[in-house]
Amino acid sequence: MTNRIFYRELVELDHGIDNSGKMDKGSLIESSFKNDLCPICLAKIERYRYTDPDDDGYRPSGNWLIFDTLLHICNKCSWWHSTQEGLQNGTGQKVFSPYVYYPVIDKLDISTDTIALEDLKSNLLLRWDDRKLISAGKAESLVQSILKEHLSCDVYTATANANSPDGGIDLHVCSKNGSIISAVQVKRRIKRDSEPVSEVRDFVGAMVIKGFQKGYFVTTAERFTSVAQRIPNQLKEINSRLELELIDGQKLFELLKNDAKPEKLIVPPSVKLDSVWVAPDGHTLTTSQLIYGE
Ligand SMILES: [Zn+2]
Repeated sequence: MTNRIFYRELVELDHGIDNSGKMDKGSLIESSFKNDLCPICLAKIERYRYTDPDDDGYRPSGNWLIFDTLLHICNKCSWWHSTQEGLQNGTGQKVFSPYVYYPVIDKLDISTDTIALEDLKSNLLLRWDDRKLISAGKAESLVQSILKEHLSCDVYTATANANSPDGGIDLHVCSKNGSIISAVQVKRRIKRDSEPVSEVRDFVGAMVIKGFQKGYFVTTAERFTSVAQRIPNQLKEINSRLELELIDGQKLFELLKNDAKPEKLIVPPSVKLDSVWVAPDGHTLTTSQLIYGE
């Protein structure tokens, strides 16, 4: 499964529900939730209730309404809509707010080469493990973009054609005046947790052959093997003019956090990310756990 949900904006339906609590006929919500099924993926809808814990119980006279927010959320794709229901002061009658909210969502395959870099970055901020699912080409674009920000330099692909042999160098880092000052190697790892020394040695060899003195080896693997980690210092110790910086998956994630904008969080109005929701069986989850799965 490489599809992910992206929440784009919040839609307000101002006559989404009538006084008796029925969804307005013909609306997206009415037609899709008739059977408690999600309109996107037809999975089951779960319901959660949020009662404002800061409500001090004070009610002015008249038809003051006490509202709870309900979240109706798909347990598969996380599409949701929210409604409000409450009790009329005095009569105790159940009432419904006419407003219904739901997000506009995109379902995107993050393993394709066509996914927008901004979407990829915001998704990786939430789910760094997804880096194992992205294409090698996108991994290169991602590193290019992150390094550009981190080094405040232009970073270009070393090869015009992504399918042609890269000669061990994927990206070129340029100085302010446009001259190429260092080389970058990017490895996107799917299964491997540590980057082996042989790959780093190959890169150092490529740097020498192409005449680079400075290089960055970037891997999406969690870490470099301990032997590989020693190479930058070994180069210094032998007074080599070569300068090598290793960037592992953890470091790359730190750089991403400095660079990427988090996805605009879309939640029902009147709740916060840490608001606590109660399921019919009594278990509780916060808004961010419910909607963003964390
Ligand atoms: Zn769904």
